[in-house]
Amino acid sequence: MAHKILIVEDNANNSTLLWDILTYHGYEVFVAVDGEEAIAQAKKLRPDLILMDIQMPGMDGMTAGKILKGDPATSLLKIVAQTSFAMHGDQEKFLAAGFNGYLAKPINTRELPALIQQWLNEE
Ligand SMILES: [Mg+2]
Repeated sequence: MAHKILIVEDNANNSTLLWDILTYHGYEVFVAVDGEEAIAQAKKLRPDLILMDIQMPGMDGMTAGKILKGDPATSLLKIVAQTSFAMHGDQEKFLAAGFNGYLAKPINTRELPALIQQWLNEE
């Protein structure tokens, strides 16, 4: 059965790019456009991996990630932060908030499939 991946992204160009790559590699892909929708979809779909944008209108990705990680019903879902903040120390900030990884934007489309595999294979 195909792994389910939830893309959380407010920018349609970015989510289309991710959707194209992930569906090409055989994943079952879903999209949410803000933090509140991400939480609702995560509970309903129980995706194997969530690619969570950080800067979004409405509820941002950091808030949504913390809520999911703080809820026993969803705390074990894997969440990777995707953000264009190229600031030193960001990775530590996301990992401290409970995120399972960090994906810097712009997305490196050649490296993405291997990273996705790696995150899916992690315990
Ligand atoms: Mg955004």
